[in-house]
Amino acid sequence: MVEKKSHTLKEYKKITEELKIENANLKNQLSQKDHDKEILEKKISDLDSKIKTLNEIVKSIEGDYSKLEHQNDSLKSNLEQEKKQKTESSSKKIAELRGKKVKKEKKKEDSEVTEELKQDGRLPAKKIIVEGTSRRKCPVCGNSNIKLIREVVDKTIILLDYPKVYGKKLTCLECGGEWRVSSEK
Ligand SMILES: [Zn+2]
Repeated sequence: MVEKKSHTLKEYKKITEELKIENANLKNQLSQKDHDKEILEKKISDLDSKIKTLNEIVKSIEGDYSKLEHQNDSLKSNLEQEKKQKTESSSKKIAELRGKKVKKEKKKEDSEVTEELKQDGRLPAKKIIVEGTSRRKCPVCGNSNIKLIREVVDKTIILLDYPKVYGKKLTCLECGGEWRVSSEK
């Protein structure tokens, strides 16, 4: 019996030793885990700070982007305005040029009209001597009253150089027409 008891005691002692060792092991493992945990926590805090930094960068990029967008908008509106002004000024110029052209053409027409009026007889530039058939009848107005018909020298016609002999033309005192007769003697 004593032998068995001592045996049991021995066994207990052994188990106690084993448990002590295991306990030490576990403690060791626990401290290792704690160490790992610390490392992981440090890593997490590093990553957190990196995320914070990245968030700040993103924020500043977003700010720049919105600034750029604003600038872009204002540039666009400036460009639009410039375009509008250019279009307006060029269409104005075109209208001006058209106006000038029209004025020029009108002036031209006016001067042509004036010249026509001059040739009309009111402001005669030169008299046209017509070819008539009779000395006693004006071929322009048909006047046959010889008292109103004059025969005058026509210095534009030279019949003989020496002595100078000029041709003759007839003038109607009724209408002022002039004619010459070459066939009738
Ligand atoms: Zn006449």
